[in-house]
Amino acid sequence: MAEGEEGFPFDLNPMYEGERVRRAGMYVELGGQTKPGFELVIFEPDPAKVRDNEVTLIGPDLPEMEEGGTYAYGMIYKVYGKLIEKDLEAVIERRNHEYQSYIQGYMHLNQRAEIWVRISKDAVKKGLKSLKQIAKATIMLFKSELPFIEKMEALYITDEAEVVKQLEMAKKIYEARDLKARGLHDEDVDEFYQCTLCQSFAPTNVCVVSPDRVALCGAMSWFDSRAAARVDPEGPNAPIPKGECIDPIGGEYTGVNEAAVRLSGGEYDSIKLHSFLEKPHTSCGCFEVAGFYIPEVDGIGWIHRGSKVSETPIGLPFSTIAGSVGGGKQVRGFLGIGIQYFYSSKFIQYDGGWRRVVWMASDLKERVKDAIPDEMREKIATEKEAADLESLREFLLRVDHPVVKGVIREVDGKKITEGWAAEVEVEAEAVIAPPGGPPEEVELPPGEARGAGAGGAELPLPISDTDIAAPIKITLKNADINIGRVILRRKKE
Ligand code: SF4
Repeated sequence: MAEGEEGFPFDLNPMYEGERVRRAGMYVELGGQTKPGFELVIFEPDPAKVRDNEVTLIGPDLPEMEEGGTYAYGMIYKVYGKLIEKDLEAVIERRNHEYQSYIQGYMHLNQRAEIWVRISKDAVKKGLKSLKQIAKATIMLFKSELPFIEKMEALYITDEAEVVKQLEMAKKIYEARDLKARGLHDEDVDEFYQCTLCQSFAPTNVCVVSPDRVALCGAMSWFDSRAAARVDPEGPNAPIPKGECIDPIGGEYTGVNEAAVRLSGGEYDSIKLHSFLEKPHTSCGCFEVAGFYIPEVDGIGWIHRGSKVSETPIGLPFSTIAGSVGGGKQVRGFLGIGIQYFYSSKFIQYDGGWRRVVWMASDLKERVKDAIPDEMREKIATEKEAADLESLREFLLRVDHPVVKGVIREVDGKKITEGWAAEVEVEAEAVIAPPGGPPEEVELPPGEARGAGAGGAELPLPISDTDIAAPIKITLKNADINIGRVILRRKKE
């Protein structure tokens, strides 16, 4: 599609999906990390209440904005169609990202209240002078791509106070949608749903939406996906027959595995829906929350997009972790999820669920505090208690977190980790050298005497029993040892 009968001063083409507008080339930024923003679709059952193709803007338009500035941004669409049902609101809303990504010089990222938009200087130079042009183009795309939308009206808001007010209303709608999805479980249905929307930039991504696993972008529940598949069978959402259940705890099904092969082009052959470390779900780039395994404490940490917390105990910010998680890959040790998955009764249950969670960004922990079981709430550290690995380990010991002595999986009572409490006090006995005594000088290569995680180490000291009257006993307490070089010399007679 090009500039044509609609008279838009920009191209509209799927090839612009994934286009990035860098800060240096940006005219303005809307929403994002520093200003409130959201997008919302509302189904209006009365066609008379939708003014088709009408656009209203509340707040400053592009010419009134300062170049390089950041502004609040709200996009509300009212839709009507005989085939539309309430469950489709979230589905249509999710497509806003796709269609706005077709607009040259307009970068749209994320969803719901996390949206982040940038408009390029080039787009403005070419004649873009109003957000109303963006809204008109978006409505045109929606109606041509989703013909079941018969009428559509847009309200765009850049007035910050109004965005904040409407955002509160939007959050209530998001919450109601999320609550609806919580009462249904994987075993209650015969089909899950695939979503291929993000394959345009993550071609091997396999998104599977089940009742107990909301989409990792957070925008689509099982109900939403079902509604989308019904109304748009040729679209990105299609049913996946569950098939046989191979692993009820991990959430592995033959139907999902077949879909994994088909959708990833053979890259992956199996996925466990409720596992973190083994055959995890793939992650494109839209996940609301990134999880990371922390081998030093054998636990899992979480940080969300938009968190105010700049670093995690592993020393990486969200952006760096997101780089490891994304791209449509199945990455052991990292996982992208939707926020609502924290409320799932099957939340990473293969790996011990909440009993395996050791750290969360404080703003995330506060946001999902109702999802955390009472007995775990005080045992999960945030950046306030644990900014690095050492303080995290101390915290976990102090609160007697399950990872310390070993995690017992709630769903089947099986002990799935050994814990590391025993390693904290390690008694490393001297190793007696073979007959012939030790060499004159022994140098251990770097790393050979490295402390094992939580503080224990067995030191392979080659000491002859001819040199010592009694065996040496070395006790290491709370030690984290990394010895670059050890030299032992024979005592001169
Ligand atoms: S993250 Fe998954 S469910 Fe969400 S839009 Fe992308 S492919 Fe679809």
